[in-house]
Amino acid sequence: MRPTDLEPTFLSHAPGYWPEEAMETWSDARWQLRNRVDSLADLEARLNLTDEERAGVLLAGTKLAMSITPHYFNLIDRDNPDCPIRRQVIPRIEEGWTAPEELADPCGEDSHMPVPGLVHRYPDRVLFLVTDRCASYCRYCTRSRVVSGVGEQHLETQWEPAFRYLEQHTEIRDVLLSGGDPLLFSDDRLDKILTRLRAIPHIQFLRIGSRIPIFLPQRITPELCAMLSKHHPLFISIHTNHPRELTSEVRDALARLANAGVPLGNQSVLLRGVNDHIDIQKALVHKLLMCRVRPYYVYQCDLINGSSHLRTSVSEGISIIEGLRGHTTGYAIPQFVIDGPGGGGKIPLNPNYLVDSGNGRVTLRNYENELFDYPDPTPIPANILQNLHQQALSHT
Ligand SMILES: *Cc1c(COP(=O)(O)O)cnc(C)c1O
Repeated sequence: MRPTDLEPTFLSHAPGYWPEEAMETWSDARWQLRNRVDSLADLEARLNLTDEERAGVLLAGTKLAMSITPHYFNLIDRDNPDCPIRRQVIPRIEEGWTAPEELADPCGEDSHMPVPGLVHRYPDRVLFLVTDRCASYCRYCTRSRVVSGVGEQHLETQWEPAFRYLEQHTEIRDVLLSGGDPLLFSDDRLDKILTRLRAIPHIQFLRIGSRIPIFLPQRITPELCAMLSKHHPLFISIHTNHPRELTSEVRDALARLANAGVPLGNQSVLLRGVNDHIDIQKALVHKLLMCRVRPYYVYQCDLINGSSHLRTSVSEGISIIEGLRGHTTGYAIPQFVIDGPGGGGKIPLNPNYLVDSGNGRVTLRNYENELFDYPDPTPIPANILQNLHQQALSHT
């Protein structure tokens, strides 16, 4: 942990691992994308890798590509192999092992696709996978079977059949664009997709799931924000796992989105050695609120192939929620969920505050472990009701 990780401060880490000259093009998103660290040579030119990391990079080529924007790379601690940023984006040898509980498609999405690219699991909303590319790749990606394009399986979104499905299914109120990262599309392409969705009368609101505000805040231009604001109500769920990710550049990008009227939520994944500590989670949720981002979900890490070194036990997630509830505002507390393996959808998990129930009362525990009884309502006795009627009559 860096001392500043727990401070409510927004540091800029540029230019960091890049020469001072890079600052001229630093804020250009295309420069950031062109200069991503995506090979062992690039990586070793900047960092001393551990043997576990070097082997991981060599193995990653046929599973989930490595790619790290200079902006995000600059958050890496040069001298700390356990750096929480490093663990999220630099492959490790452990990825090469598939634990018996792990799956290629842990959330059973492929079996819930009426049209390739469209996941329809819940009654009123769909997940629309519009691209298989991201600005950088998270090593625990739940969709690593298709994301980054190096594996055997490929995402083949069928645009026209997907739009037709959405037009025909009037029960769908809500479309969540994800992938991959939809904000990698050009403004024009995204505008066309959003316009097409907005033309469907029963679709009430749109959402985009994106880690671009964190990996590539330079992409959040005033032009993008102006385009997005034409399609309201439009929400964005970002993906932040560690307070260090909230730099001054990220804070400013989030402010541009919030000022464009986009309600912002955060989804994080509970990861071993990254954010499996109450102090880190507290610092994260408080900094998110300072950026006008409401913590939405914290996910138990999916049972994705090669993720055992990043997963925690479920009880750790419950303890983290318990460490937040009552100790900070409810606005700062995300819902802890497990996406049911094989296709159960999001299942909420909460600390148990209901200690006992029965005999017309419940016994509750508060955040300080004090017990409280809360009784069910007592029915009004018939004779008392009768008396009240008579009293009322005597007032006429
Ligand atoms: C997460 C998810 C959604 C959206 O769920 P919300 O709880 O509404 O955020 C929709 N469809 C699928 C398949 C999902 O995994």
